Amino acid sequence: MFAASVLAEEAPHLKVVVFEKAHQPLAKVRVSGGGRCNLTHQCASITDFVKNYPRGAFELIGAFHRFGPAETITWFENHGVPLTMLEDGCYFPRSNSSEDVIRAMLRCRMDVRTDSEVYAIHKAATGFCVQLAHGERFSCNKLLITTGGGAFVRGLEHTIEPCVPSLFTFNTSDRAFTSLAGNVIDHVRVSALGCKAEGTLLITHSGVSGPAVLRASSFGARAFAEKRYTFEMKINWNAEMNEEQVFHVLEQFKKSSPKKKTGTWSPVGLPSRLWLLIVKRSGVDQTCEWGSCSSRMLRQITAQATGFPLMITGRNRHREEFVTCGGIRLKEVDFKTMQSRLIPGLYFAGEVLDIDGLTGGFNLQAAWTTGYLAAQSISARNRETNAQKRVNET
Ligand SMILES: Cc1cc2nc3c(=O)[nH]c(=O)nc-3n(C[C@H](O)[C@H](O)[C@H](O)COP(=O)(O)OP(=O)(O)OC[C@H]3O[C@@H](n4cnc5c(N)ncnc54)[C@H](O)[C@@H]3O)c2cc1C
Repeated sequence: MFAASVLAEEAPHLKVVVFEKAHQPLAKVRVSGGGRCNLTHQCASITDFVKNYPRGAFELIGAFHRFGPAETITWFENHGVPLTMLEDGCYFPRSNSSEDVIRAMLRCRMDVRTDSEVYAIHKAATGFCVQLAHGERFSCNKLLITTGGGAFVRGLEHTIEPCVPSLFTFNTSDRAFTSLAGNVIDHVRVSALGCKAEGTLLITHSGVSGPAVLRASSFGARAFAEKRYTFEMKINWNAEMNEEQVFHVLEQFKKSSPKKKTGTWSPVGLPSRLWLLIVKRSGVDQTCEWGSCSSRMLRQITAQATGFPLMITGRNRHREEFVTCGGIRLKEVDFKTMQSRLIPGLYFAGEVLDIDGLTGGFNLQAAWTTGYLAAQSISARNRETNAQKRVNET
């Protein structure tokens, strides 16, 4: 829809048709960011910005230089959507309504055919034949596919990287742990199946959530899916300190507060109920005084504080944002034009590509960017073809 808006403005001579299987277009944009639409993120440098894409970072560098967050902000502001940036760098419409983002796109003249599911695509002598599920057929010179995550149309030679969910929270059946629901711990490091992520962690009634967990779910999306979301996660409750540093803090505390009980107060600034669980799980008696703790006991507590094992038994949908990793293999697409390297005249944009980002406006940004580049390329190529035709005619 964004690509069609850009084409409607920049190449009004082209006949652009959008086929949408749903009754209304832009359903996901409408619900995005809890109905507020977090449409992009603050960008200090593109090198840092792309670190938020577990898949697609490399390909997006050049693409963002051509049409990145700054250009997106300008486009929407020029189309009647003043934006505001929150403290965490997320951009929203100042109205806090995704409807304004939708209105900006629909304002551009375009032919949107809803209730029109594309069932198959055939390569024709010149261009493509698009077959709808209810039987109708259309032909076109250029075709841009933007069917989102996990929805593919038949008849393409492209490789599809396996689709699995990204951006989710984890469940655990560890009741003692979930009884701590509501605790928010800053700067935690979680690691599982070779994947590490840092940030704030929130203990929920079903498991763990928060930026550190969402980040891990995204970077480890494929590994976690392979294990059917059943694996052991290790939590370092204080990512700023390694095992030796925590051990040192405990040793110091033993010297400074020998009469205090191990289970009653956290020397590393953790919430008291969480600390109590850490001590209990370490096997050290919670009523034992720090002064009578042996080095081995301090090591046992340290091990739990820096590598707390949590058995993950499933995943939960993250309400604010949810994306699919997987899609059209990136090597098969030219990111200067978003054109297929296998089938000239065919383009891809958005979540149908094997690109996904962290939560915070990165997914929509990838969709705006790839949509814009595809539109630019389609209109430029069309100009070239028309010019060539005129040369041939004369
Ligand atoms: C609840 C939720 C909240 C989100 N919040 C945010 C957020 O705040 N910020 C952010 O950056 N990202 C967010 N995302 C992710 C973001 O919405 C997507 O990355 C983005 O919408 C992808 O755009 P797209 O056009 O590629 O795909 P989609 O938005 O999925 O659009 C694809 C369209 O193609 C249609 N379609 C599919 N198959 C066919 C077919 N065969 N024929 C015709 N039509 C077809 C679908 O009906 C759909 O309308 C959120 C996602 C969800 C689910």
